[in-house]
Amino acid sequence: MEEMQIKELKNILSTPKKIVIIPHKNPDGDAIGSSLGLYHYLKHYQHEVHIIAPNEYPEFLKWMPGEDDILKYEYQADACNSIIQKAELVFTLDFNSLSRIDEVQNALKDFQGDYVMIDHHQAPEGYARFMYSNTAMSSTCEMIYNFIDFLGDTDKITSEIATCLYTGIMTDTGSFRFPSTTSSTHRIVANLIDKGAENANIHNAIFDTNSIDKLHLLGCALKNLVALPEYHTVYITLSREELQQYNYKKGDTEGFVNYGLSLDGIKFAVIFIESVQEDLIKISLRSKGDFSVNEFSRAHFNGGGHTNAAGGRSELSLEETTKKFEEILKDYKSQLQ
Ligand code: 5GP
Ligand code: MN
Repeated sequence: MEEMQIKELKNILSTPKKIVIIPHKNPDGDAIGSSLGLYHYLKHYQHEVHIIAPNEYPEFLKWMPGEDDILKYEYQADACNSIIQKAELVFTLDFNSLSRIDEVQNALKDFQGDYVMIDHHQAPEGYARFMYSNTAMSSTCEMIYNFIDFLGDTDKITSEIATCLYTGIMTDTGSFRFPSTTSSTHRIVANLIDKGAENANIHNAIFDTNSIDKLHLLGCALKNLVALPEYHTVYITLSREELQQYNYKKGDTEGFVNYGLSLDGIKFAVIFIESVQEDLIKISLRSKGDFSVNEFSRAHFNGGGHTNAAGGRSELSLEETTKKFEEILKDYKSQLQ
């Protein structure tokens, strides 16, 4: 974000405003962590702040400070619409294309105020007057820390803010191991611990609350893993029947795709999950090195994201989707060597 923009935004924020914060659909730890971190920060200045999530999110995020205050558009559309009607400023966090918030996009069509985008995905759209977009950042939570820093306010970071931001940095960096984790990330994380983020407890709250069904579902996913050594690629499938067999709940498949990448020599891992609610296949793609799953997903599966982590979707059946995937891979053989 340029200095001019920071000054202008600081000026806007110098008097109480009606502010809405929106994370992307199917929010993850970074989307919820950044929204709540910013929420607590803005509340400190007496702004009227609401977080509107497009839809429900997993149980493992529901312990976060302030989480109870989050409105979910899928359940509370009327209340959300009236809040949006009065909003003066809308922060969009952890996404950069309004298509990623589904129906909330329609709710915003008469919005006349300013958008502030804070995001680390590739190819940002131009809807925001204030834009802090940086694909080199580990997470939107790291950017919220920087944003608070730009405003000269790191001394305003409470243990609640620190907890929320720590959570999102931890989840988006695969617990500080992805290449997006820099020395600056670690310095910020260290500051967050100093400000009251309880790192071991946060890790436990996110990762060590599995149900037996979830672990059995993981077993099923790993059994379904297909290795394509010729392409240094693996993929996993989960059908609707398999999900139902293990009483699938939102978030249960989080992180499964990473097991594919742990196989020796693998550069590209994908999971295809047949949606229980919609008639589509949800796809998560991960890579190591410079193979861009963002470009791959944009080109073939109607999605996008980052170089090493992206999402996508397919309207074909599960079987047809994996067949299409194996066909497409042939064109990427040299890139995957
Ligand atoms: P996941 O596989 O966990 O759903 O997504 C991996 C990463 O790609 C996340 O950062 C997520 O926000 C992003 N992502 C997922 N789906 C899409 C999409 O359709 N478009 C874009 N631009 N990013 C996506
Ligand atoms: Mn993120």
